[in-house]
Amino acid sequence: MLPDIASAVRLQELDLRLTDLTKEIASLPKHISEIEKKLDAHQRKLEADRAALSANQKDRKKQGLEKNVKTAEVLLKAEKAEVESEKQRARERTEADQKAVNELQANRKSIVTSMTPGVYSNYERIRGRRGSAVAEVVDGRCSVCHIAIRPQFLQDVKRGEQVLMCESCQRILFYNPPASFEDLNGPSASAMHT
Ligand SMILES: [Zn+2]
Repeated sequence: MLPDIASAVRLQELDLRLTDLTKEIASLPKHISEIEKKLDAHQRKLEADRAALSANQKDRKKQGLEKNVKTAEVLLKAEKAEVESEKQRARERTEADQKAVNELQANRKSIVTSMTPGVYSNYERIRGRRGSAVAEVVDGRCSVCHIAIRPQFLQDVKRGEQVLMCESCQRILFYNPPASFEDLNGPSASAMHT
């Protein structure tokens, strides 16, 4: 397989993971603010119950209120602890995600540097327009837009000697992906698997 094609395949893998990680990093603060809001509402409810309790002088009613306040206090304490540990988990998760993003971006940079500039700019242009720029050929069809590929063109794609694009969706086509990017470094690495 032409190194440019293998690089485009690898780039797409990296970009998908980067998208997932970025989404997760963005979702964590929202999640934390939601559970904090809930905690805050429960806190206010407890304060209202406490105020009602101190204002109420009738014994029968007072007992009921006391019971409510005690239960709420116990629940609130547990909820506070849960929110704190959830925040800690989110902080750790964000840190790990950010580290992974940095590694992927460094990896991406070195792949981009190794690619023919025209192929890379094609990759970015198609990705910008269609969300993804690379498509595998499966059963004689483009696996993304599902158009059947002409037999002669299919032979060319299978040979993998040039960067070819789907005639329908314009994605860079590849056939039979490498087991891993590392396998591309030499025939000895792939020979070890057989
Ligand atoms: Zn297609």
